[in-house]
Amino acid sequence: MNLVHDSASLQAQIALWQAAGKRWALVPTMGNLHAGHLGLVQQAQRQVDHIVVSIFVNPLQFGEGEDFATYPRSLTADCDALRGVGCDLVFCPAVTDIYPTTGAMTKLQAHAALAARFEGESRPGHFDGVVTVVAKLFNLVRPHLAVFGQKDYQQWRIVQAMVSDLNWPIQLLKAPIARDDDGLALSSRNQYLNLEQRQLAPRLYQTLQLLADTLHATKDPLKYWPELQSNAVTELLMAGFNKVDYLVWVEQHTLAPLKDPQQASVLLVAARLDKTRLLDNLEL
Ligand code: AMP
Repeated sequence: MNLVHDSASLQAQIALWQAAGKRWALVPTMGNLHAGHLGLVQQAQRQVDHIVVSIFVNPLQFGEGEDFATYPRSLTADCDALRGVGCDLVFCPAVTDIYPTTGAMTKLQAHAALAARFEGESRPGHFDGVVTVVAKLFNLVRPHLAVFGQKDYQQWRIVQAMVSDLNWPIQLLKAPIARDDDGLALSSRNQYLNLEQRQLAPRLYQTLQLLADTLHATKDPLKYWPELQSNAVTELLMAGFNKVDYLVWVEQHTLAPLKDPQQASVLLVAARLDKTRLLDNLEL
């Protein structure tokens, strides 16, 4: 496995694959890898010859007061793990390599309707930062396939919209959520949880499962949704969550409120345990 820190070395390797007629995938990450990230690599391996994993904590997608400076960084362990699953190339650039100019630069704007609510509401500018760095990574790596996790559902939809809106000839793959044995979605931020919070955290997924079961079993689920939603939020707060940023039942494609329960839908939730925000979702 090759580890490169600058885009020139990255592109030299890509040129070799291109000359050999190979196909490759990009798995963008911010590092501190867990089994969920490795699952993305394994999904991609079924479809292409080579895998590039980028590890880049992107300052553009962090807001003021967020954890950019303290975001866990663990390059040596990440590389060991990636070697173990047969990754070919790790691209871990410096911030100055991706953003050589400080201040003014060309940025992308995420799909306004998809980005306005949920994470966009709690984290203004976050998705513009995400699409800008993903666009740059796409241009540097020029992958045939790019893999994103269902874990960040809104991000997945926004990247999908960007690829379609900007006519990028890149196939996208959505990888299922990898979870701990107790159901908690794996996340680099789980390590911020203390023991008590860690025990509470799986409640989030349990809540989604319970809601999904109830919605399936209810004759007119849209009518009862406001009450079910409000009860679920109250229960999370009573259990010890400090805040539920959102708990919504939306249409999968537009992320707009559901009008017809027969449509493909998804439950999205974000809740806080002290300073740690946990995200989860469940497709119905
Ligand atoms: P991150 O490093 O947190 O930016 O995540 C990089 C990629 O891994 C994103 O596409 C995430 O959606 C995905 N990812 C993170 N956690 C999980 C998980 N538990 N299951 C599946 N994919 C995940």
